[in-house]
Amino acid sequence: MQEIGHWINGEHVAGTSGRFADVYNPATGEVQAKVALATQAEMDAAVASAAEAQKAWGATNPQRRARVMMAFVQLINRDMDKLAEKLSSEHGKTFPDAKGDVQRGLEVIEYCIGAPQMLKGEFTDSAGPGIDMYSMRQPLGVVAGITPFNFPAMIPLWKMGPALACGNAMIMKPSERDPSVPLMLAELLKEAGLPDGVLQVINGDKESVDAILDHDTIQAVGFVGSTPIAQYIYERAAQNGKRAQCFGGAKNHMIIMPDADLDQAADALVGAGYGAAGERCMAISVAVPVGEETADKLREKLVPRIEKLKVGPYTAGDDVDYGPVVTAAAKENILRLVQSGVDQGAELAVDGRDFSLQGYEDGFFVGPHLFDKVTPDMDIYKTEIFGPVLSMVRAGSYEEAIGLAISHEYGNGTAIYTRDGDTARDFANRINIGMVGINVPIPVPLAYHTFGGWKKSGFGDLNQHGPDAFKFYTRTKTVTSRWPSGIKEGGEFNFKAMD
Ligand code: NAD
Repeated sequence: MQEIGHWINGEHVAGTSGRFADVYNPATGEVQAKVALATQAEMDAAVASAAEAQKAWGATNPQRRARVMMAFVQLINRDMDKLAEKLSSEHGKTFPDAKGDVQRGLEVIEYCIGAPQMLKGEFTDSAGPGIDMYSMRQPLGVVAGITPFNFPAMIPLWKMGPALACGNAMIMKPSERDPSVPLMLAELLKEAGLPDGVLQVINGDKESVDAILDHDTIQAVGFVGSTPIAQYIYERAAQNGKRAQCFGGAKNHMIIMPDADLDQAADALVGAGYGAAGERCMAISVAVPVGEETADKLREKLVPRIEKLKVGPYTAGDDVDYGPVVTAAAKENILRLVQSGVDQGAELAVDGRDFSLQGYEDGFFVGPHLFDKVTPDMDIYKTEIFGPVLSMVRAGSYEEAIGLAISHEYGNGTAIYTRDGDTARDFANRINIGMVGINVPIPVPLAYHTFGGWKKSGFGDLNQHGPDAFKFYTRTKTVTSRWPSGIKEGGEFNFKAMD
């Protein structure tokens, strides 16, 4: 059985804890590898050498650091298929989707090539007599990234790129469910010229996360994962005086107005609701048609589209719409929530409970589900299901529909389908959600904008990537300087000398 260890000081290192987690092939249900779970002592050693390596890296000029990013881009492109293949085999998502995962991460590395521009400070000439004032952005030192299973390339890249381009050393703690791709990315960064020790990839579970949170040397923590863990990490990091940005779960609503193009809306819902088996923080999990007629027509269009979805392993080719979910436990949790929806009175318009795939009976496949007539008190509405389950909540009016999205505890993404500019504008202005789509179902901002949710979907300040990332991974120092040529002997200002 393959044992996956850590990446420390530029090489693969076996774990010493004797503790391991299983890494599955979700399509077959087989354990394909075991990943080592680091101890606090292993974390301490990795942090100590990262701190040492950071000194020279932080002092390297930004353009040289950007060149490493440039080379990294080439290498990711060179190895795109290899990365995507490994990603699919551990995560389960289809091959094109896995390439998309790598691609969206790659775009942030491309953005980081602009680090010299982003890190330029500000300068005020002659803020007073003989006085200049300037501010500079300096790296924090050693920072940490803790990432979820559902984007094992994209989210580690969102963290590594800006953190390293800003001159920090990083401890990356990937999800223990699909740990291989971050290790492959570390190898590529070494090949791109990143000095050893500047990036350490340490695999682990709660023990290594707590070691990060309590470590005095680590200055900042960037987390992405479920809301309870995001909140826990935010609070513990803050108690320990660290800068923290922690992005959590989601329940993304899409409002469908009576004037919307319903074919477009139905296609969008199927892609955004069931793509990647619903294991996306930007998946649409709630459809809110406005008016009974809209709801009936939408349901009529959705049902055949959903029934046609092809569920299968990533090896079955490009016509597979989505693959298995990540673990047996995830599958059980989804089916338990589906049952609760039935028990609490929602109408199961598409029932995927008996789904089984010949030859892959032990895989973690979940058939697609559509619930209609869901109400806000039901568990399937309140909870993030993170599976191929779409809930329709029928609203009587636009006000009722927007009210639902506003009242929900999560605030990651949302969308509205309408042909009416006034309604769309009103929605974009009033909604208390971080990322908004107008006739766009998954409004993921591009690398040069920022990504982040509101309410229980995000804790802390500043978003991921875009200009915010350069702020998060640096601190500002402002220098006020006065030089004698502007000052008379004896300390008084020589105003004439300033003429
Ligand atoms: P998770 O919270 O279980 O795990 C995320 C990370 O936290 C992993 O590295 C894991 O090892 C660690 N962890 C797990 N339990 C821990 C504990 N008790 N103490 C300390 N650390 C712990 O999340 P997941 O299941 O890997 O990912 C799915 C979740 O991530 C979903 O809720 C999804 O919405 C969310 N997500 C959010 C965004 C976003 O940008 N808002 C993006 C992607 C995923």
